[in-house]
Amino acid sequence: MLKTSGVILRLLRSDCHFNAPSSYLHNTFCLKNQNLENHRHEKRSRPASSQHTARQLDSIFLMGSPGSGKTTIGRIVGSLLNKPVIDIDDHVLEPHWGIPVSQKLHEVGGDNFILEEGKALLEFTPIDSVVSLTGSNPMYAPAMEHLRNYGTFVFIDVQNEDIVQRLEKMKVSRIVGQEAGVHMRDILQYRQQFYEAGYDIRVICEQFESQDDIAKKIVKALEASKADTYISTRNEKLDNHTNQFITFNDVVLKGLAPDGGLFVPDRTVPELSLKQWNRLIGLTFQDKAVRILEQWILDFRSVSQQDLKEYIKKAYSSFNCLKVAPVVHLQGKQYIQELFHGPTASFKDLALQLMPQLFQHAVYSCSASKSTSARFLILVATSGDTGGAVLDGFRKLKDVTNIDVMVLYPQQGISSIQQQQMTSMQGDNLHVVGVDSDFDFCQSTIKSIFNNDSFREELNEKHNCQISAANSINWGRLLPQVVYHAVGYLDMVEQGIISLGDRVDVCIPTGNFGNILAAFYAKEMGIPFNRLICASNANNILTEFFQTGRYDLSQRTLLQTTSPAIDILKSSNLERFLYHLSGGDSGFVKSCYDNLAESGSFEVPSELKSKIDELIVADSCTEEECHKAIKETWEQTGYMLDPHTAVAKVVADRHSSNLPMIISSTAHFAKFADSVLDALNIERDNLSPKQWYTKLRALNTRPVMHRDLESQIELESTHNTILQPNINEIMKEIRKFISK
Ligand SMILES: *Cc1c(COP(=O)(O)O)cnc(C)c1O
Repeated sequence: MLKTSGVILRLLRSDCHFNAPSSYLHNTFCLKNQNLENHRHEKRSRPASSQHTARQLDSIFLMGSPGSGKTTIGRIVGSLLNKPVIDIDDHVLEPHWGIPVSQKLHEVGGDNFILEEGKALLEFTPIDSVVSLTGSNPMYAPAMEHLRNYGTFVFIDVQNEDIVQRLEKMKVSRIVGQEAGVHMRDILQYRQQFYEAGYDIRVICEQFESQDDIAKKIVKALEASKADTYISTRNEKLDNHTNQFITFNDVVLKGLAPDGGLFVPDRTVPELSLKQWNRLIGLTFQDKAVRILEQWILDFRSVSQQDLKEYIKKAYSSFNCLKVAPVVHLQGKQYIQELFHGPTASFKDLALQLMPQLFQHAVYSCSASKSTSARFLILVATSGDTGGAVLDGFRKLKDVTNIDVMVLYPQQGISSIQQQQMTSMQGDNLHVVGVDSDFDFCQSTIKSIFNNDSFREELNEKHNCQISAANSINWGRLLPQVVYHAVGYLDMVEQGIISLGDRVDVCIPTGNFGNILAAFYAKEMGIPFNRLICASNANNILTEFFQTGRYDLSQRTLLQTTSPAIDILKSSNLERFLYHLSGGDSGFVKSCYDNLAESGSFEVPSELKSKIDELIVADSCTEEECHKAIKETWEQTGYMLDPHTAVAKVVADRHSSNLPMIISSTAHFAKFADSVLDALNIERDNLSPKQWYTKLRALNTRPVMHRDLESQIELESTHNTILQPNINEIMKEIRKFISK
């Protein structure tokens, strides 16, 4: 190979960090690309013979419908990248056959044509070129597999309707199917599945977008995908290994960055234009999710787009609502986004039905070529809802023998239904432990365990076991949440409540700042969110921070409220927000969190404070206000709020404007049946949770009762361990669990 393309360079860089004697990478991060490729071979049932072919991943294959402009776009991309341009029709097929393509189609007919075309392609070996495929090439799988050895497939995703119009003007006559009199719309529709099944990078084109602009998008996407790496919020160059390449799989497995910071992508937030968002209108939740997550997971060698699609499809098929996360009207300009239709009835399912699959994918990719496969222990601290969602997500994985989950929940301050949900969850790989303390204790204990090198080494040496996190500090957990914010906005457009481009406010009950950070990312991606309203309960440290610029733990103790999932004082994901708003100033972020550790507080400079003010409004509510909101909303609208959503409702009322407001409904009310009955002044003394449900069902609420909660309430609790709030006890329990 004479030329070293960027892609190859990337592979080498990745291998570098594998061999580097790095203190942090341990032996988990073995993402030699060879492994990934092997994984991909399997997934795509690649013929064994081609597995050992020397790969020259330096060409670019443009694919897409006939009429999507591949030939012209190919020429422009070629000149932008300074690579030779090959048009399959003109430079391969016609010389090969010695007759024009349209004549060949006429002679042999549609089906044979695809075969003939494929055979010609099998003899074609591109070197470092931009290749414009024909519209029908992707329909012949062996040829596509052959080409896969030589480069990257870019799917020029143009709206079919545009193409129909364009083809009518061009009077094209060499498209398979046309000769049989099939309508162009149906031909395009049918072809779509082949493009969808084979691309590495999708470029979403605007309606009637110019070919120059599409070409620029392609070049940009190719560059971004080569540079798709992650850094810590506290250290720009992790451990000064400047050539370290941290992949998506790495960050999913690792959870927390080695310096105590959080992983973020080492680039700006991907943005879609309104015209690109418009292309998502009318698609299912799953199809929207694919297109949104593809913008972030650019490194298709970490997760191929086809795998990603499969995971997304599976994740959201377990929801009790076809729309997954629908937006419904509440009253006036207020709308509720119902994020509780997943199997454990909180919004956390939206991330945690997907993330475990990404985790397992990363584990497979990592150990594909190793004879011994590493074990993983996911350690989770939960304020009530994360635990159930993590347990449900991980227990559903197929063939999982090497991923265990241990959940610590605080005995003080979670609802009895949450506790029952977690302690009744079945699965050999699950362990659920109560700690006689609060959430902050559980969360800091887990952070300490993560930072305890000797303990980690011990687990590694004795059990070949690595620990990881599934809290919203894990990037793989946070990322899927961006999807529903965008989908919620687009849903309002689809319902005709707003027009694409209109601004809306979003109000979010906030604890660890994951949900609202995801809304921030959606806004950065181009969703026209106006204000992000951060709603807290009596633990209103975030309200104070956003009002004063000072984050001060020193004077606070955690209060127990009836919205326990936001009873949090150390709001982890705020760190990512500060990182982004400071323009990626990791030194600044590090100093904030050093100060927080040393003196219990930090303060942001006024310049940064004003930037934050442009984005965030923060407020809090009391227990009384929260209960009153549940009762009054029920009486006025027939809609039943859970206590967390009620916190947001109180704050939303106080900050209403003339814009529509989406209130994030983060849990189904039945998950907090006790507090809801109390708020409604319905007597529940001496009643069991099952009897609470009978009372609530009798109210005929909107939304209706939650199907999965109703069946879970019948299950027996089997995890009954309770520990003292002592880190040594907890480490002992971990040892015991993984020696099982
Ligand atoms: C986890 C949770 C929250 C808080 O979400 P963050 O992303 O941590 O801010 C709010 N409401 C409910 C019901 C939750 O489970």
